[in-house]
Amino acid sequence: MTAGPNGPDGRPLPVVSPADGRLLDLLPATTAAQVEAAVRRARRAFDSGVWSGLPHRERAAVLLRLADLMHRDRELLARLDSEDAGKPVTECRTSDVPDAVEAVRWFAEAADKLYGSVAPAAGDLGFTRREPLGVVAAIVPWNYPLAMTAWKVGPALAAGNCLLVKPAEATPRSARHLAALAEEAGVPAGVLTVLPGHGAVTGAALARHPRIGALSFTGSTATGRRVLAAAAETNFKRVSLEMGGKSPQILMPDALSFGDALIDDMIDAAFLTMGQNCTAGSRILVHHSIADRVRERFVAAARSLEIGDPASPATRVGPLIDRAALARVAAAVDVARAGGARVLTGGAPADVHPGGSYYPPTVLSQVPADSAVLTRELFGPVVTVQTFRSEAEAVGLANAGDYGLAASVWSRDLDVALRLARTVQAGVVSVNCYSEGDITVPFGGWKQSGFGGAEKSLAAFDQWTRRKTVWIRGR
Ligand code: NAD
Repeated sequence: MTAGPNGPDGRPLPVVSPADGRLLDLLPATTAAQVEAAVRRARRAFDSGVWSGLPHRERAAVLLRLADLMHRDRELLARLDSEDAGKPVTECRTSDVPDAVEAVRWFAEAADKLYGSVAPAAGDLGFTRREPLGVVAAIVPWNYPLAMTAWKVGPALAAGNCLLVKPAEATPRSARHLAALAEEAGVPAGVLTVLPGHGAVTGAALARHPRIGALSFTGSTATGRRVLAAAAETNFKRVSLEMGGKSPQILMPDALSFGDALIDDMIDAAFLTMGQNCTAGSRILVHHSIADRVRERFVAAARSLEIGDPASPATRVGPLIDRAALARVAAAVDVARAGGARVLTGGAPADVHPGGSYYPPTVLSQVPADSAVLTRELFGPVVTVQTFRSEAEAVGLANAGDYGLAASVWSRDLDVALRLARTVQAGVVSVNCYSEGDITVPFGGWKQSGFGGAEKSLAAFDQWTRRKTVWIRGR
């Protein structure tokens, strides 16, 4: 490892624009020694009771102020995520930033609603309390930098913990601004610390740290495996994993009766954040009777999406995160094509800016069953179309593979829709829409997509609190 501003294990962290290759910022990367110091500071803050000992309503008031400040700075936060991740600024303005504000506000309001329970003990009294875990950590991906951070900051802090957040290498700036806003809101020092850094150094130090009580990870399945192993090899910290997906969009014979709403939602499912979305509906499964008409309308809609500079409000498709992602996506499509797949639109890098990593919305059909584009998360604007003849065949295709994050189902037949909602193996099934639901419902994947339902809603507190049983003898 080369020397950097933080010493021998901390290479500096360049923040590079995916849109044109410009250097946006060069941040000091957090070293392992700095992680150690941050854990000690957080521990002191926790033990002092300056946050964990506050009455719940006071903690809630500080977090509500934080939500207000995020709302005040919404335009800056949207710009930071758009610049760092190459996300269309319109997506950040209309979805990511409002979702993040809403998450912090909702969890603030939930701070004094964490009830324990009373056991039906005969004579004696047994009850449970939910207590914070102390010093906890979050490791966050680059595709929804602020929103994923807020999903973790909200419940972790509302529960009284002191949290260390490691943003992804490529997208550290919105989380850094969030930390500044937290200070302005009155969150005491040591309660929320943002540690920009490299996964193999900063992330690994958090995952291995013996005095971190819980770690919430969102990212790829490969890194999730490492994080879980690190926890097992050290202190068995409580780990929660939310990882990749290969989600199906299932269109039953009457799906076209939803008209433009169907096509619009299919486009969002496939191409929001350029398909670099954990819940991307990257596998379209369509009943053979409507397949030709769906393909035609979907391909026409995909071709009409405005591709270009993410800073332009009209842009629907920006660049991929970096040149490596562009090369990976291009190679996967080339291999599929060579294996017999038909490219209905897209299929080669787009010439938008020489320094950018642009790949257009791409639709593949007749993809061989063993092709990697059907089985592995590609994390790009590429969808496959497969047809089925029966509901059982649709379920078989939907449940194939190692992932189980999300699925959408389109049918006006309530029996069919409910049956599919039950039989499809995914943590989130949306019916007649593409949606993860609002902050009131749990979110998370099954199988190798995650631990299931660990984010959002009151269920999120299961990550960030532990149960204590108190038993009082009646004498
Ligand atoms: P990634 O796994 O490469 O990185 C995620 C985070 O882990 C980053 O902060 C990274 O620095 C850190 N990291 C890397 N190596 C580490 C190590 N050895 N120890 C500890 N931390 C380490 O993922 P990414 O490319 O940033 O994000 C894309 C992935 O995230 C996709 O697979 C996507 O599906 C997934 N994702 C899942 C959800 C969900 O809720 N299920 C949401 C968003 C993204």
